[in-house]
Amino acid sequence: MKLTMLGTGSAMVTECYNTCFVLSEGRQRLLVDGGGGNGIFLQLNRAGIDVREIRDIFVTHKHADHILGIVWMIRMLCQNMSQGNYEGEARIYAHEEVIGILDDMVHMLFWEKQTRFIFRQSKPGEREAALADLSYPCLRLIPIEDGQEQIIIGHKFTFFDIRSTKDRQFGFSVLLDENERLTCCGDETCHEHEYQYAAKSKWLMHEAFCLASQADVFRPYEKHHSTVKDACILAEHLQVQNLILYHTEDKNMAERKARYEQEGREYYSGNLYIPADLEEIAL
Ligand SMILES: [Zn+2]
Repeated sequence: MKLTMLGTGSAMVTECYNTCFVLSEGRQRLLVDGGGGNGIFLQLNRAGIDVREIRDIFVTHKHADHILGIVWMIRMLCQNMSQGNYEGEARIYAHEEVIGILDDMVHMLFWEKQTRFIFRQSKPGEREAALADLSYPCLRLIPIEDGQEQIIIGHKFTFFDIRSTKDRQFGFSVLLDENERLTCCGDETCHEHEYQYAAKSKWLMHEAFCLASQADVFRPYEKHHSTVKDACILAEHLQVQNLILYHTEDKNMAERKARYEQEGREYYSGNLYIPADLEEIAL
């Protein structure tokens, strides 16, 4: 499996794109979050990923820097369907509130000509009963629950509620092969109940808002975010082999990688990745 970081920044960045990424198994693609706007198309173009290759999308939560790019993706997918350029189905997975928001927004914003391809499943597990009503092409909005397993791009994903006290948010863990996992904790510090997924993961994707040495400037804790030091101490404790940090501030872009690595290495003995936008990592 391959990871392509489309964006690596936190919500208010201007020097990079908001955090979102694609997991690829050959030409099977899963897009995770969409960033905050139609810059998602530029990032996909730059990464050499055709929008029509994206059949699966997972949205972690409803914050603008994650969900609004998905509104554009829906428009693009439906437009392709309407023009006969997209066959079969596309699927968007998210918890029920996010599915409801996307469904409401796109019906308020877009023409019926575009939204007629959208099919919303009202309850998790409704798929089988509802499939009989489907016509193709279509875009299915699929609500997921805490602990739900799903095969996507040929791999078993387990979605979990990170139990944020801000807004409901989900992360996921995916089996890369029989024993190895990649776990993504969304954009908040990994909580203790997520350790069952994160511990001993081959890869852990974790947010790091800024350096610990600059916590007084960027105030990560006000938004439930971590510093590089916090994330690295946690990854060491959880015996993670490879740690990918993302969702950062953008005030040191030229030196971000070097400075974050320098701080992180003091606390973490595994392989530390501070990817730039469009960086690819073979998992
Ligand atoms: Zn965010």
